[in-house]
Amino acid sequence: MRAVTVTPGVADSLRLVEDHPEPSPEEGSILVEALSVGICGTDHEIIAGEYGEAPPGTDRLVLGHESLGRVLEDPTGTLQPGDLVAGIVRRPDPVPCPNCAVGEWDMCRNGQFTEHGIKALPGFARDRWRVQPRFAVGLDRALAPVGMLLEPTSVVAKAWDHIERIGARAEWQPQTVLVTGAGPIGLLAALLATQRGLAVHVLDRSTTGPKPELVRALGATYHTGPVSELDFAPDVVLECTGAPVVVLDVMCQAGPTGIVCLTGVSSGGRTIDFDAGALNRALVLENNVVFGSVNANRRHWDMAAEALTRADQSWLSSLVTRRVPVEAYAEAYTSEPDDIKVVLEFAS
Ligand code: BGC
Repeated sequence: MRAVTVTPGVADSLRLVEDHPEPSPEEGSILVEALSVGICGTDHEIIAGEYGEAPPGTDRLVLGHESLGRVLEDPTGTLQPGDLVAGIVRRPDPVPCPNCAVGEWDMCRNGQFTEHGIKALPGFARDRWRVQPRFAVGLDRALAPVGMLLEPTSVVAKAWDHIERIGARAEWQPQTVLVTGAGPIGLLAALLATQRGLAVHVLDRSTTGPKPELVRALGATYHTGPVSELDFAPDVVLECTGAPVVVLDVMCQAGPTGIVCLTGVSSGGRTIDFDAGALNRALVLENNVVFGSVNANRRHWDMAAEALTRADQSWLSSLVTRRVPVEAYAEAYTSEPDDIKVVLEFAS
């Protein structure tokens, strides 16, 4: 069968392998036919040789962590043949740490977790894959065109879950949300904000392309330009760019008791001249919280499935700006200016 693979650590080693072995039953009892995988910045980093790890004893990694498939067989009866399914990305560490021991693998403490298509586990960019029932998330059949958005939605569902847990430390009545970055994570974070009835503002540097309209279609306000020129102090910020200046600016812009959630993974290596003392003073005197958030556990995947089911399906579809058949895989992994979410299609 076909599989999209790389040699981690080796730039431009992306290949479509035609004779990849069938998934081993040890991977899980549910056999799935791949429909599509979404592509994100992490895939680009792995292809550039900057991230990623092959499974032990091999030197190639099957890519793909944003999965959507159709169940071929499930002897456990958890799902039915024909059901839509996504595979959870992360697996708990084997020790396990206190968090992994209770199913909070997204909060793993020792770094020994594994991730499909990223870290030491084969990804979902192959014709067939297997998954254990515990890591298989069933999707409403109406989500067939957009179900590969479940993984990025799980990441923002976790971010929102933690924002709300932090907010609950005191009386909390948030009204305004700022999302920085109108890529897939930013737009999905904004969607979940509108589902919470909040006034949503999205800031991005694009002045053309589909982003401004996608934001307006959510009933949110689109901004370009520096964060410091915004005329409001948000109660919640979801930072989805990882751009160092934006990260520092949103920390300064948050209102009293504001919560800033950082989701963007910066490449590092750039330094900025910055008044850290002034920032510290503002954070302390306003009871602000800044925290990082990555990945998602089963509860967040289930929340994400519910959020996608509630969303306007045509809006979700318009996040997918290119659908590329697997035979033309190299095109899918080559970025184009107006890309939001690019999807590699295996079957329909
Ligand atoms: C994925 C996460 C993963 C992270 C770090 C992201 O692209 O969405 O699930 O934990 O990369 O590997």
